[in-house]
Amino acid sequence: MPSSTVENYLKAIWTLQIKDGSDQLVPIGQVAERLSVTPGTATTMMNKLLKKDLVRYTPRKGVALNENGRKAAMQVLRRHRLVETFLVEIMQLDWAEVHEDAEVLEHVISDRLLERMDEMLDHPTHDPHGAPIPNAEGELKSDGTSTLADCGPGTYTLMRVREDQPSFLQWLAGLGLRPGTSVRLTERNLEADTLTLEIPDREDSVQISLPAAQSLLVATL
Ligand SMILES: [Zn+2]
Repeated sequence: MPSSTVENYLKAIWTLQIKDGSDQLVPIGQVAERLSVTPGTATTMMNKLLKKDLVRYTPRKGVALNENGRKAAMQVLRRHRLVETFLVEIMQLDWAEVHEDAEVLEHVISDRLLERMDEMLDHPTHDPHGAPIPNAEGELKSDGTSTLADCGPGTYTLMRVREDQPSFLQWLAGLGLRPGTSVRLTERNLEADTLTLEIPDREDSVQISLPAAQSLLVATL
């Protein structure tokens, strides 16, 4: 198993590549920022990742995962998301409080334990935040979602919350918003950068900010 540092780099590069929606090179500065290290430290690591044949790296241009790197990143993501599901479903922890533990456990859980957890959970396809779990072959199904911030007025089912901060998740739960909830987007106020939502079981409509809406993925299929 690669070291946890290597795994965190792979995860960071993957996340930044996904954000751009492409397999273009990600600038090293962005990788460094995401991992809170200096650009020099990140650059040193790039040579290590190159030697291990996990990335494509062009100095001053950036880095992208190659097929080996993508597979390794998917294994980390699978461990992270299965652990979160296990902590919520089996250990009954609050969904807002499991991310930090998963960040640690994702690097140390053995394949044997992981497959046992997968069995006990009956092979879940999504974690408690609604994120898809890569399968054992490292495939991640594209989930047909877009952020609520990109949607026009209409009714949508919340599929996934792209944010792990406990305070944000508690705020969402307080509003009655969880994966599976269907919400009606009634108005986009572009001057105030807010969206107005109607949420089941609430009489008053709710306004949320555009950045908050960017963390909410809804089904578009
Ligand atoms: Zn998490």
